[in-house]
Amino acid sequence: MKIKHLKNLFKIYTDVILDNAKPTWAKSPIPNSGYKRIATEEAFATPALIAESKSIIESGHAEPGFAKMGKFVFGNSLPAKILDSKLLDLGEGRIKQMDADGIDFALLSLTSPGVQIFEASKAIGIATEANDILMEAVNNFPNRFGGLAAIAPQAPIEAANEIARAKNLGLKGIIINSHTNGEYLDLPKFAPILEASQDLNMPIYLHPREPSSSWVTPYLDYGLYFATWGFAAEAALHAMRLIMSGTLDRFPKLRIVLGHMGEGIPFWLGRIDNRYKGQVVIGASQVLELLPSEYFRRNFVITTSGVTDYEPLRLSIDTLGVERIQFAADYPYENAGAGVQALENANISDQERMSIFETNARNYWGLSFD
Ligand code: MN
Repeated sequence: MKIKHLKNLFKIYTDVILDNAKPTWAKSPIPNSGYKRIATEEAFATPALIAESKSIIESGHAEPGFAKMGKFVFGNSLPAKILDSKLLDLGEGRIKQMDADGIDFALLSLTSPGVQIFEASKAIGIATEANDILMEAVNNFPNRFGGLAAIAPQAPIEAANEIARAKNLGLKGIIINSHTNGEYLDLPKFAPILEASQDLNMPIYLHPREPSSSWVTPYLDYGLYFATWGFAAEAALHAMRLIMSGTLDRFPKLRIVLGHMGEGIPFWLGRIDNRYKGQVVIGASQVLELLPSEYFRRNFVITTSGVTDYEPLRLSIDTLGVERIQFAADYPYENAGAGVQALENANISDQERMSIFETNARNYWGLSFD
């Protein structure tokens, strides 16, 4: 039993850690295609973000979920150091990796949980600097990189101003890593952010992070706070709060992106509608202008990040329509080449493949690279 466990552990280690450490341009290249491959959830970090994240973990005052998650991403282990070096690279190294993985264009965003764990003034400073660093990378490689702006939801007015500044700089939307200090975007205090996002046509990529302190406890065991399950549970909760609160009646043109094949929501849409109707009858849910699934199909699009199985892709195409699905690799957390191969080999039409890889993202974010 013990030997089998060790063998499994060794296999996982060699599959994942060593594989991720090895530059994939050393592996078999992915052939070119008749379309551009656009990846829409690609992470980067700045030196300040890494330094401040480390300092919060070391202070012992991090939120319980981040205290556990952060030490794997921002810690001193070899895998963490390899990860950090990939996150920091906004130049030739990243481009070379994209070439090897068959990715033409990456929409970059500050890695989760970004600045949302810092006190407001520090968060504003690090987000502003990150957006400038990101824009410099975009200007250096305009045919390879686009960017989503980081904001500090802790300071909603300043965040709204930063959305306007980012728009003027040329960034294409904003990234929000789910909750901020346990608070969700449906709260009235965040209205300036939603207003700026809607009015300036800067979509919100609602990216996962660890569940908030008020419900994280059962997730703290067995690694459940992390991306096996807790990330999707947290991001899906956030999306469902935006739907069920009536926020999307107040902001009908808000555009929201969910990664990881919609964080499971496409699977549940039929049941969500049925139970919503039942709950309205007994007074357990407020009456919305639309059915929950209608908001999901109107206000949300999803990306494939980290989901390489055919069945959830099929379900999502059938449930939402192919035009609401974009490709994402989730570099450097996932093997981007494997993500490309999965979609290349998926049993969908070439028209659908081109929509997911290129057309949908171009239209949605207004990308005009060659
Ligand atoms: Mn991600």
